[in-house]
Amino acid sequence: MIPYKHEPLTDFSIEENRQKYLEALKKVESELGKDYPLIVGGERITTEDKITSYNPANKTEVVGRVSKANKEIAEKAMQIADKTFNTWKKVDPVIRAEVLFKAAAIVRRRKFELAAWLTKEAGKPWVQADGDIAEGIDFLEYYGRQMLEIAKGKPLEENPGTINKYVYIPLGVGVVISPWNFPFAIMVGTTVAAAVTGNTVLLKPASTTPVIAYKFMEILEEAGMPPGVVNYIPGPGSEVGDYLVDHPRTRFISFTGSRDVGIRINERAAVVNEGQIWLKRVIAEMGGKDAIIVDDAENADLELAAQSIVTSAFGFSGQKCSACSRAIIVGDEAYNKVVERVAELTNELVVGDPANEETYVNPVIDEGAFKKIAEYIEIGKKEGRLVAGGQYDDSKGYFIHPTVFADVDPNARIMQEEIFGPVLAITKAKDFDEALEIANNTVYGLTGAVISNNRFHLQKAAEDFHVGNLYFNRGCTAAIVGYQPFGGFNMSGTDSKAGGPDYLILHMQAKTISETL
Ligand code: NAD
Repeated sequence: MIPYKHEPLTDFSIEENRQKYLEALKKVESELGKDYPLIVGGERITTEDKITSYNPANKTEVVGRVSKANKEIAEKAMQIADKTFNTWKKVDPVIRAEVLFKAAAIVRRRKFELAAWLTKEAGKPWVQADGDIAEGIDFLEYYGRQMLEIAKGKPLEENPGTINKYVYIPLGVGVVISPWNFPFAIMVGTTVAAAVTGNTVLLKPASTTPVIAYKFMEILEEAGMPPGVVNYIPGPGSEVGDYLVDHPRTRFISFTGSRDVGIRINERAAVVNEGQIWLKRVIAEMGGKDAIIVDDAENADLELAAQSIVTSAFGFSGQKCSACSRAIIVGDEAYNKVVERVAELTNELVVGDPANEETYVNPVIDEGAFKKIAEYIEIGKKEGRLVAGGQYDDSKGYFIHPTVFADVDPNARIMQEEIFGPVLAITKAKDFDEALEIANNTVYGLTGAVISNNRFHLQKAAEDFHVGNLYFNRGCTAAIVGYQPFGGFNMSGTDSKAGGPDYLILHMQAKTISETL
């Protein structure tokens, strides 16, 4: 087996790649507006009630209409998943892993087309869409290999006169609830981690991005995933989500999304309902309020700082749980220079339709997000000094200009609450210790970065900057599967570390078998 290596990103300076993307966009455009059924036990189910997926850049353009699951269909899916678990759990882990390797090969072949779907359905600019698909491939390749390792079991201490074995077995039916911001990578990663470990899955993708999840279901089928192992049941979180979270046959829930929904799921999952014979396990990866600390002018490369802040704050319009929404800068000189440079770089960013190659700042996902972010921009105008952006316009799509506020108090709302859009707040610290205090002063703890060449400061940050993913002298986004396992502390979640060596085990339980000779 070739060792894992992350999928290279597409180089769009090569003309052939540009042409392939343009062709893929044309192909996707010719397929917009179709209907998609649910998939339960391999059976296609069409409902009257539909979820309509729109293009965020052109709010009247329908990407697709997806049948909407309800409680009855969720119940049917649960029964099928429960039954399928009895056969799937016995399938050799090597064969389960091979389904993932085959799926990775199919995704790789269809990379441009799948990325183009993300451009249309999630509003992802080319580079971001390509990265999302590449990460999906990485999860397939990495978790497949991880499963092969786990299948070998773990050695125990020698105990003469006995044979002792320690093996990991799957849990049961898992409910996988995924967000829209990495509608391919996170949906793929959370689904296949649950399936390759021998569990069966009820997949409820986000309602704004159900079409790309359907495309992945087709790929899994083509790769040989047996019917009933992964069931596709998009539907309203409040109805289908609650029903399945409460269900006594649900063994675990793998959720990625906002803090409020994560808390609700965790609370509901803790209740033991009638007929339930286990405590449900919850994997919950939630929001962030991520900060980049810039050391003083003597210790930090200020150009690197400004570049890192701008790319981390505005890539995919700040709609990443890892996005930099706070910059904390030490000392007057560094502060003044970095604020000025960040404003300059931000004003250069091209806002527009992500189908155009030059677009950097895409529309936000939907009307709800647009309104919420616009409100925060108005709050920011009172809480800070506007140095870039501040405009928004939803006449065609949900466009918000990348916005920077300086001189913001660390306790201001735009410094504390997750906005999940292209809004950055900047504050000044008197020294490095105060910068760390400010950075840790939120309920979250997902990612963070420090720009400094001072070894003692980096060491202090390594010990005291309380985030799951800490980066030095780079931005705070773009973790790579297998290299930077991802997950956060405090209200950012259960720190499951997706794309890391401990992730699959969270979907399993260990069994000890001991024989006296
Ligand atoms: P969200 O919480 O609104 O929705 C996430 C999923 O939960 C969706 O599929 C939604 O339909 C479903 N849901 C909603 N109500 C539910 C309920 N009552 N029961 C069950 N499911 C329900 O989040 P979102 O807007 O899709 O995503 C953005 C959020 O996700 C941000 O807060 C972001 O920081 C977070 N996020 C975190 C990570 C991470 O790894 N920590 C990664 C990506 C996104």
